Amino acid sequence: MLKLTNTLTGATDTFTPADGATVRMYTCGPTVHNFAHIGNFRTYVFEDVLRRHLKSKWQLLHVMNITDIDDKIIAKATEKGVDIRDYTAPYTEAFFADSAKLRIEKPDVITPATDYIPEMISLVEQLIASGHGYREGNSVYFRISSFPSYGRLSRLDRRELKVGARIDADEYEKEQPNDFVLWKGPKEDTEKRWDAPFGAGRPGWHIECSAMAMKHLGETLDIHCGGVDNIFPHHENEIAQSEAVTSKPFARFWIHAEHLLVENEKMSKSKGNFYTLRDLLEKGYEAQAIRYLLLSVQYRKQLNFTIAGLEQARNSLDRIKRFLFRLQTTNLPEGRNEELKKHIGAAKVEFEAGLDDDLNTARALGAIFTLITECNNALDRDSMRQDDRQEILAWFKEVDARLAVVPPMEELVAGDAEIEALIAQRNEARRSRNFAESDRLRKQLIDRGILIEDTREGTKWRRK
Ligand SMILES: [Zn+2]
Repeated sequence: MLKLTNTLTGATDTFTPADGATVRMYTCGPTVHNFAHIGNFRTYVFEDVLRRHLKSKWQLLHVMNITDIDDKIIAKATEKGVDIRDYTAPYTEAFFADSAKLRIEKPDVITPATDYIPEMISLVEQLIASGHGYREGNSVYFRISSFPSYGRLSRLDRRELKVGARIDADEYEKEQPNDFVLWKGPKEDTEKRWDAPFGAGRPGWHIECSAMAMKHLGETLDIHCGGVDNIFPHHENEIAQSEAVTSKPFARFWIHAEHLLVENEKMSKSKGNFYTLRDLLEKGYEAQAIRYLLLSVQYRKQLNFTIAGLEQARNSLDRIKRFLFRLQTTNLPEGRNEELKKHIGAAKVEFEAGLDDDLNTARALGAIFTLITECNNALDRDSMRQDDRQEILAWFKEVDARLAVVPPMEELVAGDAEIEALIAQRNEARRSRNFAESDRLRKQLIDRGILIEDTREGTKWRRK
């Protein structure tokens, strides 16, 4: 039984898809006017883990948008005098390249806002016809006083609502619960616009997601995700627009990932603690360790991203690598260790229970390391058997399908003639007690990212 915390109800409820078979999930995608930062990627990694866990239970139809129309994009494209698709294309490409490095799976359907203008226009027309939308100047606004449950998701005090006050910006503060823009008339002659029955212009950010989500997933989604930053105004406005048209709940579960802090502070360019994924890779940190750190804390808790934490993440990954390397290179007798079999079974149950427990990734990771300790003990005592190894390796494949934190097995044990030769030379130097030479060869191997371990069964090596 999968439990998830629903922002709409404030409760942690059992989740199943409405039709019992296919989860229809929408996640808000990137706004493509620069490179995504690690705060963004915390949310995308959380959604990726959720996606993988859902797929282990049901069919999944996952839609994510690409926001390629918004205030900043229009301003920058206009300034450069280029088409907005030309302006955003490199950032869209960069987003998927970064995501691939973090082993984030691609959603099943990816929807750039610029491909869904007719659907957005149709929604705005319906909102005008039903009195929820109104024209003012050359723009169209949503009248929040016409939607009594406005503010429910973000628990906005309705006394704060400013009847009749309007806001044009795509993003704004919680202190401004005003009528929000559905369709914006162009401010300048050069600005990109699309024709519409209610006047040429462009969609507001919020209407984009409503139109694209309902187009592919129907009027009521099973799950709508985002970061906590999206709750107000973005998701609040998505609910108002969608439900004002359909009179049905827009999403059954709203799930939000908490903030990411960097070294205990809010990430900001002025503080110098603002990192894109690219910044960290350039500094020499590995994408795998970054993913590990991002998913090591449950999505509902704030995550404090620190360089020390990255080192720890790398150590944890090394521990997994060392274990898998040892597991695969140790000669084991045939048969089965019944005691160990119980531990493996318990680890599997605990791992699933952790993920079912509101996607408690820390608990799931704990199950992995408990088993590693037990297995290492068994290896120390020579009590592990071949059938145990087979089951453990098969389970680590499953763990990787869910969390994508297990390094590829081939990488760990692949032979390489040149490295084998260096190791042989080093062993030869050791045998002839030429320690200066053996140290030199050891350093040469380390510099090439090779870790070596001298064991009873000879020298073993692996790539770092
Ligand atoms: Zn959205």
